[in-house]
Amino acid sequence: MESALRDPGMALAEQLPPLTAHAAAVEADRCLYCYDAPCTHACPTHIDIPRFIKKIATNNLRGSAATIFASNLLGATCARVCPVQELCEGACVLGADHKPIAIGRLQRFAMDYAREHRSYPIVKAESTGKSIAVIGAGPAGLSCAGELARLGHKATIFEKRQMAGGLSTYGIIALREPVEVALEESRMIESLGVEIKTGIEFGKDVSLAELKRQFDAVVLSGGLGSTPSLGIPGEEIIIDGLEFIEASKTDPANLQVGRNVIVIGAGNTAVDCATIARRLGAERVTMVYRRTDREMTCYEHEYDFGRKEGIEFRFLSQPSRVLLNDGLPAGLECLRVELGPPDASGRPSPQPVAGSEFVLPADQIVKAVGQNKPVLAALLGLETRKGFIAVDSVFQTSVAGVYAIGDCIRVSGAASTVMAVEDGKLAAAAIHRQLVSAPAPLEVS
Ligand SMILES: Cc1cc2nc3c(=O)[nH]c(=O)nc-3n(C[C@H](O)[C@H](O)[C@H](O)COP(=O)(O)OP(=O)(O)OC[C@H]3O[C@@H](n4cnc5c(N)ncnc54)[C@H](O)[C@@H]3O)c2cc1C
Ligand code: SF4
Repeated sequence: MESALRDPGMALAEQLPPLTAHAAAVEADRCLYCYDAPCTHACPTHIDIPRFIKKIATNNLRGSAATIFASNLLGATCARVCPVQELCEGACVLGADHKPIAIGRLQRFAMDYAREHRSYPIVKAESTGKSIAVIGAGPAGLSCAGELARLGHKATIFEKRQMAGGLSTYGIIALREPVEVALEESRMIESLGVEIKTGIEFGKDVSLAELKRQFDAVVLSGGLGSTPSLGIPGEEIIIDGLEFIEASKTDPANLQVGRNVIVIGAGNTAVDCATIARRLGAERVTMVYRRTDREMTCYEHEYDFGRKEGIEFRFLSQPSRVLLNDGLPAGLECLRVELGPPDASGRPSPQPVAGSEFVLPADQIVKAVGQNKPVLAALLGLETRKGFIAVDSVFQTSVAGVYAIGDCIRVSGAASTVMAVEDGKLAAAAIHRQLVSAPAPLEVS
């Protein structure tokens, strides 16, 4: 396959430019500073949005950052990746008749100020002498460890990859979040006194028994597993969507992109893979999905974005075989599908029509069909719910002193970074109460 690669640096550069100081001031001045603001309720981390926007309006950017950090230590990532249309901005009262306040971009403006000035106004409590092990340096683990540090505990993160940040570093396309933003946020968490040990895999290099001996509590935030198998002939030639995105972030110059690319799936990851392929020069990108646009798991705004990027959609089509030519992909054979009664997911079940095979030509095929359930549950013999780690109301698993947060517990609802961050914050407060029998002190900003 000949690569259709253009200039990856330009093609995948962060999509939205930062606001200028003038644009930020004008936007902040539009805010009505609502009492009991709906946007704050709609934000899963409940950032005091009118307050941080007011501080931007009065040019107190450090104070604005302090207000954001008080509720959300990963404000820089969230400002870029939150589906704001569904959350804070979707609740803005101005949205009914005018444009909602650009909350995400204003949050990014304050967070960029903090990053550029290395000014992280975060108040830390006196040391408690307690120590907590956190597995995984994704948003959930970083948030939890940072909050534990803020409460005076010593948190140590064990991360199997070479870089911290989890999917913010490796999985969210650079158009939304460049690697450097996620890494700087991890460094900021380290600056609070958190130790991040990379290249250490829990369950292989370090065991639960060892950690339980050395630490007062253990938090599991290992995210989900790899991409599930499709079980079709020729699958070995199909590229894993998560690996495709990772390469586009960490080694874009060497990423091979076809001219006629098929992406199997219709969730957020599938749209991201299709976008990368288009941006890097694929002439034709087709997303293949076995249900219809009504059942797609990506957000509506992502579907609209994908169509604007020139991505084609092929619904009611179930892949059945990869066609090869000299060992290279030549096409994807699919079966036409009819929708039947709801299946376990509550969506209409796809029922392939016998004898309805048709072929979509392709020189590259990528699969983005979700992630497998977390592997740590089985490894540790933890109770599960629908394959996710089961936790109680304070994030404790079926093993006392072992907590779990983030995607690995997200039984229902779309997994998102901001929800993982909130889990981390709430779990840290619960662990604090457990270890020192005291409520978490309120942050003063
Ligand atoms: C392609 C893609 C795009 C997405 N885009 C968005 C988006 O735009 N907006 C949004 O809000 N959400 C998005 N999400 C979802 C979001 O990224 C996740 O909800 C969030 O990252 C979950 O955080 P987490 O910390 O639970 O898991 P992860 O981010 O997966 O982090 C888990 C970490 O644990 C480490 N780990 C795993 N097992 C072990 C082990 N045994 N030992 C040590 N370390 C281990 C992993 O290496 C990883 O660093 C996207 C997800 C994907 C897959
Ligand atoms: S964290 Fe996300 S949802 Fe909350 S205010 Fe910021 S951008 Fe909106």
